[in-house]
Amino acid sequence: MSLIVKKFGGTSVADAQRLNHVAKLIVGDYKKGHDIVVVVSAQGDHTDRLINQAAEINPDGASKREMDVLMSAGEQISASLLAMAIEAMGCPAVSLMGWQAGFKTDSNYTFARIKRLEPDRIKAELAKKNVVVIAGFQGINQYDDITTFGRGGSDTSAVAVAATLKANLCQIYTDVDGVYTADPRLVTNAKKIPVITYDEMLELASLGAQVLNSRSVEMAKKYNVELEVRSSFTDEPGTLVKENVKMEKMVIRGVAKDTDLSTIYITGLNDAPGIAFKIFNRLAQHGIVVDLIMHTAESHGKTDIMFSIKGSDCTEAIKAIESLRDSLNFEAVEHDDDVAKISVVGSGIASHPGVAAKMFEALYEYGISIKMIATGEIKLSVIVAAKDADRGVKAVHDAFIQ
Ligand code: ASP
Ligand code: MG
Repeated sequence: MSLIVKKFGGTSVADAQRLNHVAKLIVGDYKKGHDIVVVVSAQGDHTDRLINQAAEINPDGASKREMDVLMSAGEQISASLLAMAIEAMGCPAVSLMGWQAGFKTDSNYTFARIKRLEPDRIKAELAKKNVVVIAGFQGINQYDDITTFGRGGSDTSAVAVAATLKANLCQIYTDVDGVYTADPRLVTNAKKIPVITYDEMLELASLGAQVLNSRSVEMAKKYNVELEVRSSFTDEPGTLVKENVKMEKMVIRGVAKDTDLSTIYITGLNDAPGIAFKIFNRLAQHGIVVDLIMHTAESHGKTDIMFSIKGSDCTEAIKAIESLRDSLNFEAVEHDDDVAKISVVGSGIASHPGVAAKMFEALYEYGISIKMIATGEIKLSVIVAAKDADRGVKAVHDAFIQ
């Protein structure tokens, strides 16, 4: 007998039919003698609808504390309905809100971090032979206020339960049947990846392969929780996410695209020691995370610096750079929002020569020009014009993945 944690995303519990289907999966495993803890997301797009309701009532922005009270309600509904569906199949079940399940968090409302999970109640319910259904993405802070973990946070709830209870298996059920070598809507011959490392998954998650929430993968890596991403709509085996994965012949695990970025160009800088420090220090003071950076060679004492940031940080970044105008004496600061980042991800990149050349060749053959390049241990990224992004992903995917 083993302990299985199963997490179901919004589409998997969207309506009565889906709830009954999921309940059947759960009851099936329960009858095999396993202890089962379930974590659920809100039904369908319920969280979005709650956020819209808040915006109608308070267009200037409701307080984060009240947003958490509101948003946590979505999971309260799905958890109770799922417990009812399980009960209706003759299997004992109990729903628990985040606070009942023992999720203690900090007070960063709407983006709280789990400080610890006190699992006594979960254990007690399992001892009573109940299926435990936990409302995902929420906990309670030191003031007994409800907190939520940020969008997509139910994955993190599930991993925390699996880590704390040392579960034998942590299954993340979603509406896709695994992690793919590229977005299958974009690249028709994308393939399901059978196994992937935490680090590769983190790169793919943060690069826009929106299957698993990044925080949940970080936590799974930290506590060595093996994850299985699979679909609640099919019986197919999914993708395993774990520490060590043999790379075999394939150097590249996947190709990702990110369109939520902007590039900033600062031109005509006086080339002197300290300019990079001043620019990136100021951006850090504004809480802006910089991704790719390019610095041109100096010519006639002048130089340019370019970098990319999240699209939503663009206005703030320009402001930050403008505030340095007097001390840096640059000619212009410009930005471009019509850009996209294409990245290849794979643990073997650093140790395999020729990955960069192959990627650039593929883009060259499609006539796509590269604006910026960044290399890392397990990824290689380029920035291209947004209009070239989809073709670029296909070109690169074709070059690496047969
Ligand atoms: N319901 C929340 C959201 O939509 C949390 C989750 O689904 O994981 O972001
Ligand atoms: Mg999700």
